[in-house]
Amino acid sequence: MSHPIAPPAPLLDRFGRAHTDLRVSLTDRCNLRCTYCMPAEGLPWLPAGELLTRAETTRLVRIAVDRLGIRTVRLTGGEPLLRPDLPALIADLAGLDRAPELSLTTNGIRLAALAPALRAAGLRRVNVSLDTLRPERFALLTRRDRIEDVFAGLRAARAAGLAPVKVNTVPVRGINDDEIVPMLEWAIEHGYRLRFIEQMPLDPQGAWDRDLMVTAAEVLERLAARFTLTAVPRDDASAPAEEWHVDGGAATVGVIASVTRPFCGACDRVRLTSDGQLRTCLFARDESDLRTLLRSGADDAEIASAWRIALFGKGPGHGIDTPGFLAPDRPMSAIGG
Ligand code: SAM
Ligand code: SF4
Repeated sequence: MSHPIAPPAPLLDRFGRAHTDLRVSLTDRCNLRCTYCMPAEGLPWLPAGELLTRAETTRLVRIAVDRLGIRTVRLTGGEPLLRPDLPALIADLAGLDRAPELSLTTNGIRLAALAPALRAAGLRRVNVSLDTLRPERFALLTRRDRIEDVFAGLRAARAAGLAPVKVNTVPVRGINDDEIVPMLEWAIEHGYRLRFIEQMPLDPQGAWDRDLMVTAAEVLERLAARFTLTAVPRDDASAPAEEWHVDGGAATVGVIASVTRPFCGACDRVRLTSDGQLRTCLFARDESDLRTLLRSGADDAEIASAWRIALFGKGPGHGIDTPGFLAPDRPMSAIGG
């Protein structure tokens, strides 16, 4: 395959971290209302005209892979499967000369219908978010009675070859933390790779409480009471999940200790919001406006240069566990989780 320009210089920040992973949010809207992510009434959605079009998103990703050394792209939201042009967008991205490895984070509600088309368009993997196996609890946690759609979506993803199918679970004290062991038994039975993620202070209600958060250490303690866990040697320091083999077999479980054991020192991520703002961290308090640049006729070199400059403003870490921490102005659903 021919490449239009020479291999790009790494996208570095002041701390020497090279960024190769781009998270692209495709919408701030969602068909669920997870209590730790959105209020029941939803949020003031971004006006349609401010969202990047499929062509604009493709152009920014092309610049990122051609000129900035981005190699992996994860599509997220809000709920990315709400974008009617998603299969076409994936086909556009998969058709780039330096096509990145493409993955998707979804709540799975619409995956049963879409998995084959997404796979055919060039998607490689999916992460499906699911916090409980119990229908009544799912309805309480997400404020929608749709767990069967998620189960169907997971089966369809596996059947379509979107492998490995990962399941992300946020344990919430007193709500679903009694399902830590049953979730892993279920995931192993169905061949899904489960990862537990510490809850972060990104809810729009500002109700996050450090003392109530179920920590990674606590998750591991509960798992260790039922399973034998053996650490999987790490070959990628920037991968956020610490992985464990379960009972000496091939199955693994991951724990992402975003709050208690942050992996900021090895961070290789940069984020693009659905309205075209570049964010150097989930918790960044400022953004760089690539949409205005894009729509004012900037050429690829100018956009790449603005992107590199933005990276120099990236802080050393998120500081959640430090005094004086301020949560970002946007909630998780509008940044792209
Ligand atoms: N709607 C899609 C989904 O739910 O997978 C993609 C976007 S969602 C914001 C991405 C991930 O962020 C989900 O796994 C969700 O559980 C997680 N998430 C949302 N709010 C969170 C929070 N406050 N702390 C930790 N994870 C959170
Ligand atoms: Fe929607 Fe995902 Fe937020 Fe749940 S976590 S409300 S599915 S964006």
